[in-house]
Amino acid sequence: MLVKDVMIDDVFKVDPESSLLELVSCFIDKEIGSVVVVDQQQEPIQIITLRDLPKIFLFAPTPSNVEEILQTLGKDKKSLITVKVGMPLIEAINLMARFNISHLPVVDDNSKLVGLLSLKDIIKSVPNMMYIDHLTGLNNRLYLDLLIPKLKRTKGPIGFIMADIDNFKNINDLYGHLVGDEVLKAVAQTLRKNVKMSDEVIRYGGEEFLIILYRCDLDKVKMVGERLRQRVMEINFETNPNLKVTISLGGCEYRGEKNIMEYISLADQALYQAKQLGKNRVEVLRLEEKQEFCEIGPIL
Ligand code: GH3
Ligand code: MG
Ligand code: MG
Repeated sequence: MLVKDVMIDDVFKVDPESSLLELVSCFIDKEIGSVVVVDQQQEPIQIITLRDLPKIFLFAPTPSNVEEILQTLGKDKKSLITVKVGMPLIEAINLMARFNISHLPVVDDNSKLVGLLSLKDIIKSVPNMMYIDHLTGLNNRLYLDLLIPKLKRTKGPIGFIMADIDNFKNINDLYGHLVGDEVLKAVAQTLRKNVKMSDEVIRYGGEEFLIILYRCDLDKVKMVGERLRQRVMEINFETNPNLKVTISLGGCEYRGEKNIMEYISLADQALYQAKQLGKNRVEVLRLEEKQEFCEIGPIL
């Protein structure tokens, strides 16, 4: 998750010549927590927060414009901390904790102001962060818990596909973990792009993905699985043109019965069959075909 995913972009700005009245009415009229002072090039000079307001009124004589306010507050451009739009959010949070600040101006590569990151908006985004896998940007396994009530309520068949990258350990061993991570990201994006927006793609484990297809029976599960298998085979890695990645997939169909985990385990069993039958293939199973005891057994 990056700074740009959480920042707001309609920042309130004033220039050094703005009057005290203009500054104060910004806070009162717009009910905001901070105003950024920018120069003519739209580069941030400083930030004035609600916390600064009482101090300003204690000064005598009262400063007449923003430039004087900054001088009396002892704030100048050199002491301003800004963050770049593309910075990982966690780094920005660390900065805020280290310097005890609640608002950070966000700048682009040309140092121009493009947004504002506030503690309040970060806190609001915590629930989303909890359910996102930061390497791939997909939802993580925790998200499945949130989905279960929705899946149980949904009318009509739902397809479950468990997909697993083939020989991924070899890829890591041969090309290194960084390339391994690139492969994970590329596979994740390919899966995401090749199902409907409303379907779910979850990073279920290390190199395992759970795909949930709404209104999809077993025949369609097989079809979608086959399409995903093909698309992953077609991925090109510019830095490693010889690298070819394949996935195996196991699918099943859920029809609103009670135990969802039983169906995830069924998809896992189908995936195991796909691996046993030579990998880079799709297998599907019906509940009647489920083996109660399976030696490889996913522990669910
Ligand atoms: P199979 O074809 O049977 O699935 O074999 P495999 O090698 O893909 O499966 P195995 O379970 O033996 O290895 C999975 C590997 O995935 C081992 C682990 O180090 C790697 N892995 C898990 N998570 C990550 C990750 O986030 N990044 C990288 N680079 N590797 C990961
Ligand atoms: Mg694997
Ligand atoms: Mg695996």
